[in-house]
Amino acid sequence: MERRSWAEPYKIKMVEPIKMTTPSEREAAVAEAGFNTFLLKSEDVYIDLLTDSGTSAMSDAQWGAMMMGDEAYAGSRSFYRLVDAVSDVYGYEELIPTHQGRGAEHILSQILIKPGDVIPGNMYFTTTRFHQEYAGGRFADVIIDEAHLPASTHEFKGNVDLTKLSELIDEVGADKIPYISVETNVNMAGGQPISMQNLRETYELCKQHGILVMLDATRAVENAYFIKVREAGYEDVSIAKILREICSYSDGATVSSKKDNLVNIGGFLALRDPDLARKARSLVVAFEGLHTYGGMSGRDMEALATGIREMVATDDHVRARIGQVEYLGNRILKIGVPIVQPIGGHGVFIDASLVLAHIDQELFPAQALTAAIYRDSGVRGMERGAVSAGRDPLTGLNRRPKLELVRLTLPRRVYTQAHMDVVAESIEAVYENRAAIRGLRFTYEPEDLRFFQARFEEV
Ligand SMILES: *Cc1c(COP(=O)(O)O)cnc(C)c1O
Repeated sequence: MERRSWAEPYKIKMVEPIKMTTPSEREAAVAEAGFNTFLLKSEDVYIDLLTDSGTSAMSDAQWGAMMMGDEAYAGSRSFYRLVDAVSDVYGYEELIPTHQGRGAEHILSQILIKPGDVIPGNMYFTTTRFHQEYAGGRFADVIIDEAHLPASTHEFKGNVDLTKLSELIDEVGADKIPYISVETNVNMAGGQPISMQNLRETYELCKQHGILVMLDATRAVENAYFIKVREAGYEDVSIAKILREICSYSDGATVSSKKDNLVNIGGFLALRDPDLARKARSLVVAFEGLHTYGGMSGRDMEALATGIREMVATDDHVRARIGQVEYLGNRILKIGVPIVQPIGGHGVFIDASLVLAHIDQELFPAQALTAAIYRDSGVRGMERGAVSAGRDPLTGLNRRPKLELVRLTLPRRVYTQAHMDVVAESIEAVYENRAAIRGLRFTYEPEDLRFFQARFEEV
């Protein structure tokens, strides 16, 4: 049936009340949290846009399926339902379940990477790069330059730069590159897609050199949507078919099921080669759980198997998901607030270095803006800038990343259009009063991954 807008293809049958806080409550909460939204209690948050990871709403079908979970230690029926779902939807025959995405990355890295190896990728992701390095490898960024430019409106900022990849192969030799990790809808670039053509060409180049292609297919459905609306020849192809084609240009995939797959916890490693899968299975029992549950309960696997089929059952689901992100992004743009463009698949990224041009990067403009938005309305975003980037280990100085962003990430199927209006209204109010926002300095700075637990005061 034709619809006129991206309106949600579902209605609400259960609700979770959220607290409407007062300005003085928020003032107290932000002070107690040391101006760090990671340290807020979720009870004190009105609209929570911290992350889209594991925060989706499940459907009635998923909740119903949970009652059917088979909690057998070995050979659970729920595991075989999951195997069938991954095979039907993604097209991979070998499935190794894990507790979440990083569990799959750990196992993949351990079975394929030898010390001294190099693993190219289209931008890094925190846990992915960690596991590559932990296995003795080195990450090499081969994404196109446009991915690093917030103002570039390139339609496929997630593309692999094939020249960079060829040069890397020439430089280190194909035998030092066990695989390339190709991320779909690149998270750290702001949810930006890779084109089907670029993926196909990357696969062909790697095949010529005997290099495996492993997808980080965590956001492959969101990527499929952008291929459908932006790449010639795909306008009439279903999301389900586009997803299958994406996966056809790969030898396997790691997936965090906390994103596309519409569940609160879970993940998997999927492969084609049965020998590689055997190696992975012998490790999964040591790190995650038996190879027929991998850290998930039977009911988790039921919800996941159902979510995997649901995410591509109609094209309307992902259209509404990304439609909501674009709705919020366009409202913010209309106010005149600079954001990363094109608007990505999972969130809106505000350029704090432009909004708070009066605050030096040493005084953390994105952190200050994130705190100011919470103070104004109880909307919780996240800093992605100098605080997240940490210090240079050699000089001990703060890194000065090119991107100084406030991230507003949208959980799937959780908030309404009226909530998005509140977010935009709050950003408008904060923007109008931006001259009064002050920079921040540390009162506590953890040594590693400081953004999670750091505390600040106003300068
Ligand atoms: C979330 C995420 C991961 C890690 O998955 P977890 O489930 O959080 O362990 C890996 N890659 C990408 C692209 C992600 O977004």
